[in-house]
Amino acid sequence: MKILVQKFGGTSVSSEEKRRLVASKVLNAKAQGYSPVVVVSAMGRKGEPYATDTLLSLVDESLKIMNPLAVDLLMSCGETISTVIMCNELNKNKIDAVPLTGGQAGIITDGNYTNAAILNVDTKRILDILGKGKTPVVAGFQGMDEKGYVTTIGRGGSDVTAAMLGAALNALETQIYTDVDGIMTADPRIVSDATLIKEISYDEIFQFADQGAKVIHPRAVEISRKYNIPMVIKNTMNECDGTIISNMGSESLENIITGITHMNNRVQIKICKSPGSSYDDLFDILAQNLISIDLINVFPKEKIFTIDEKDFTKFTHLIKELNMSYSFMKNCSKLSIIGSKMRGIPGVMARILKALTRENIEVLQTADSHMTIWCLVETGYVEKAINALHKEFKLG
Ligand code: ADP
Ligand code: MG
Repeated sequence: MKILVQKFGGTSVSSEEKRRLVASKVLNAKAQGYSPVVVVSAMGRKGEPYATDTLLSLVDESLKIMNPLAVDLLMSCGETISTVIMCNELNKNKIDAVPLTGGQAGIITDGNYTNAAILNVDTKRILDILGKGKTPVVAGFQGMDEKGYVTTIGRGGSDVTAAMLGAALNALETQIYTDVDGIMTADPRIVSDATLIKEISYDEIFQFADQGAKVIHPRAVEISRKYNIPMVIKNTMNECDGTIISNMGSESLENIITGITHMNNRVQIKICKSPGSSYDDLFDILAQNLISIDLINVFPKEKIFTIDEKDFTKFTHLIKELNMSYSFMKNCSKLSIIGSKMRGIPGVMARILKALTRENIEVLQTADSHMTIWCLVETGYVEKAINALHKEFKLG
């Protein structure tokens, strides 16, 4: 059996017209002799009736803490509805489709409600359906814990469902269909002349995904790489080849920078060493309290780093207990300039700083690794900064 996993994101299943296009992709796969396994997200985005955020807005914020199991059952509904609606469309196209919840599809998770981890995929039912020439349509983003309760696996989780199924079924390919042509040099909503990256390495795309590019979940990239399942990102709305993710990435030496992404809601923190403080243990204490930090600069008398704004209140309580003095700056964004070919090429950081200074954008902090340069800027400047860097490195 030539198994293909085809995952369709929220916008791809949001209207009848788009679902017709989804059906044509499934039909094409079948016509070419593949056995497709379809994975769907909830229909549409925030504000639309069945989108996850819309469902969440129906209950009190406190339910998340008091009854996460109930929240998971609610959040899973969007994808469950999607599977049935998609089956309806596939049936109209003479495809014998079988709708499955994550649990019915054999996706077993731990009991960490609202952010569960997939422990195991029992492929028996899916293989049985495929064996009968039928097409399983699996609800993304959800699974079932060992007690039989419905769980969800975190935002963007349908990508992870697809990658996990691809790995468990040893699929020939995992295809992620979305509303853009593939991975672009920058978010096309921010940079109007962003271009398609035709081929990218797992390492580079992981950087994109991990540093804020919404287009694919970082965990999905990790899984596909680990199990060596080829992955491709394509547009539901056209026949474009999309972005192929491979071990090698692009052979072209033309651009040292592959693309730019960003992450908002960063808070920059500066801590001064004071007598009798737990300065040396600070990072341990933050880790024990599950506050993740990055852009870390350590000096003898000062530590500078960033945290996510969602952790800020917890951080302030902790730091008060430790009796430490600190200053902070909210509304920061972390730019990531990514390119595996920048290794060993001098002057990249200088070009970045010059391009930003030309636009009067103050750089609050930088860091670099062999593949990525990070710059912290005020969120108000982030779009201008991305456009300036996109132009500087001629990515358009
Ligand atoms: P889906 O609902 O299909 O999962 P997402 O909204 O999760 O779609 O991801 C697609 C979106 O990711 C695009 O609409 C685009 O705005 C955004 N995006 C961010 N960075 C990039 C990038 N570098 N390339 C392509 N899309 C990007
Ligand atoms: Mg997505």
